[in-house]
Amino acid sequence: MDHHDYDVIIVGAGPVGGRAATLLSQEGLKVLMLEEHKEIGRPFQCAGLVTPSAMDAVGGHDTVLQEVDGALIHGPSGTLVPVGTEGQLRTYVVCRKRFDQFVVQQGMEAGASLWLDSVPVSAQTDQEGVEVVVRKSGEERNLRCKLLIGADGAHSWTRRTFKMGRPKELMIGFQTEVVGYEGRDRWLEMYSGSSIAPGFFAWVIPSGFGTHRIGLWSTADRLDGRSIESCYQDLMDHPLWKDRFAGTSEIARYCGPVPSGMVKKTVKNRVMLLGDAAGMAKPTTGGGLGPGFHQIQCVLSPLVEAIRANQLDEAKLKAITKQPWNAMKKEQDRARTLRNLLVSDCSDAVLDKHFINFAHPDTLTLINAIGDIEKPVPLGMALLKQVPAFRPLALKAGVRLLLS
Ligand SMILES: Cc1cc2nc3c(=O)[nH]c(=O)nc-3n(C[C@H](O)[C@H](O)[C@H](O)COP(=O)(O)OP(=O)(O)OC[C@H]3O[C@@H](n4cnc5c(N)ncnc54)[C@H](O)[C@@H]3O)c2cc1C
Repeated sequence: MDHHDYDVIIVGAGPVGGRAATLLSQEGLKVLMLEEHKEIGRPFQCAGLVTPSAMDAVGGHDTVLQEVDGALIHGPSGTLVPVGTEGQLRTYVVCRKRFDQFVVQQGMEAGASLWLDSVPVSAQTDQEGVEVVVRKSGEERNLRCKLLIGADGAHSWTRRTFKMGRPKELMIGFQTEVVGYEGRDRWLEMYSGSSIAPGFFAWVIPSGFGTHRIGLWSTADRLDGRSIESCYQDLMDHPLWKDRFAGTSEIARYCGPVPSGMVKKTVKNRVMLLGDAAGMAKPTTGGGLGPGFHQIQCVLSPLVEAIRANQLDEAKLKAITKQPWNAMKKEQDRARTLRNLLVSDCSDAVLDKHFINFAHPDTLTLINAIGDIEKPVPLGMALLKQVPAFRPLALKAGVRLLLS
């Protein structure tokens, strides 16, 4: 019998790598996580929003800094659309460092090993396994496993090494942590407009202990040569909003990529991509934690069986992942199409008109009834079908959805 040091080696001990390690180890598989940093959860590039369903999956409630009931969303000219209900939890804000550490520790408690300060140097697949050379604290080790999982983030080494394509979109996120912002308790705020977040939005999220996270995201083509920091400065200086930011003091700043749009090849012979490495972040919010967790959960049982049988060639992995991951990809593509139609491809003047329609009491009732951060497509479709002002867009949407 062929010798394997591990059933699975996971490159990247972020939240998705940690979650995969937990689920696979709980099934009795021998798992090793490789993490390039000397500690888990740093550097952190995240607003820290974790939906209740993602939180329930891992149970990391001790890492919550703040609960949020809703969002106050501002149109480019100031039309306010409040989404949510006082006292009804919509999402959590976590300390990402503690959250990542919690998830990775769960993996270790389930039996997985963790090597810090460790990166793969090369990986070669064959009929029976994967030969991985790992540099651990400067020293090279040769390991053999049955399956290599790349959960190594937006710039995934695994994805590049095995030439598995690129995410459809790469958004750029920028964020500061501040003190001194006076916001509404348990509500986050979102700001839109081409000067501050072309095609997307900026956010102010309460992060507990009197701090707030102020950030924004966009794509390089929409920024059109501008830096993301200049957009942030435009938010700070915006005539409508500058008074809100006047009393804030910055205590930290971060910048990072948000890959959204599943890569062409999520699996190859004995190799699989998860999370940001696979381009799983949501096109509507940039949230990558929930989709990354779901991506491994929804293939777990057949995958575990295939690992036990050591049947992990490309055809087998495709057969396991095809239906559930294609469904995720389809949902992602539809959400992007609706986002572009209703927000990202709109001029500020058109967006202002949409905000006036969003703010109508009947539309707000619809948004609050159907709106779900996890599943934005049903809301987009309902808006197009049920709000008279959006009906002219329905035909356009239909054509785009057919082509997406
Ligand atoms: C500004 C911003 C705000 C965001 N806000 C949210 C939010 O509010 N909610 C949300 O759900 N998502 C948010 N996201 C997205 C979220 O951060 C990611 O989707 C999530 O971290 C993906 O998890 P992951 O485990 O796939 O990748 P990562 O978190 O990137 O983890 C990858 C891990 O792999 C390690 N690694 C990388 N390369 C190697 C290598 N070669 N060898 C060994 N280890 C390696 C890294 O050090 C890291 O620990 C935000 C992103 C940005 C940029």
